[in-house]
Amino acid sequence: MRCDVGGSCGKLTRVKFGRSTWSTPTWVCSLSGHVVPAAQVETLREIDSSLGRAVSDDKRLARCLRCDSWLLTAAPLSGTATSEVLPEPADLPKPKRGKALSEQVVTRVIAVERGFHVIFFAAIVILLAVVQFGLPGLREESQNLLLSAQGLVGESRPGQSLLVKALQELGDLDTGRVALLMLMFGSYAVLEAVEAIFLWRGRRWAEYLTVVAIVVLLPITILALMDNVSAFKLFALGFELAVLVYLVIAKRLFGVRGGQRQLEAALAADVNWEDIYRNPPVVGVDRIDRRL
Ligand SMILES: [Zn+2]
Repeated sequence: MRCDVGGSCGKLTRVKFGRSTWSTPTWVCSLSGHVVPAAQVETLREIDSSLGRAVSDDKRLARCLRCDSWLLTAAPLSGTATSEVLPEPADLPKPKRGKALSEQVVTRVIAVERGFHVIFFAAIVILLAVVQFGLPGLREESQNLLLSAQGLVGESRPGQSLLVKALQELGDLDTGRVALLMLMFGSYAVLEAVEAIFLWRGRRWAEYLTVVAIVVLLPITILALMDNVSAFKLFALGFELAVLVYLVIAKRLFGVRGGQRQLEAALAADVNWEDIYRNPPVVGVDRIDRRL
């Protein structure tokens, strides 16, 4: 059962001890909601005490299986419980934790960065379309916007310097070349959209696609830097190289560090669900009970 704090499961209050410290799981839970199966079952038994515990007739503590927070929540109203008791461990939720969660967060940051590129390149394509097909007044406006966007295009991903050069000639472009530019920018937008969507969804082939795209563009990137060095270009190049190294090393692409099989084994060994289900987090529930 996934619940937002104060959201649809409602009336969830995180029980805090001492100073709160930032952690990846708590941050993810703050965005996507806690995973608290004990919040919505009819009856909590003695054997469920590591996941949930009644503290009064209408209140209970439920433990999040991702961030290990204990949440104070109202017991479900009659007829609204998802089941009479908690399911067997094999059927309990298994949200990403540990290394798997950290890897998902990093991959999604890369996906979001690609997403910004998509928006930018889609806007360029629209402006080019206006230059091609729009009314004269609009065409002039669009042309000015495109010219002022040249720098950003070149620095948003260093390898796009060829497109910048093409944009610089916009004033002299004939219909065929504008169409070609639309095709080039449109292709970039599609490539980055595919990367963004499927990196977000955790597809391994999208990680390969991202690495191949970076490698293919690398010579152009270096040429662009030699042509005109700027701090932003260096940062963008550094980011692309960091993505490349991260994906190859951490995600073990191309058989590196044992490849996918070893990655899956390492992630499986990182989380012991039997232990997680059985053992409450560091802060004991008894201590929480006394505070209420
Ligand atoms: Zn949580």
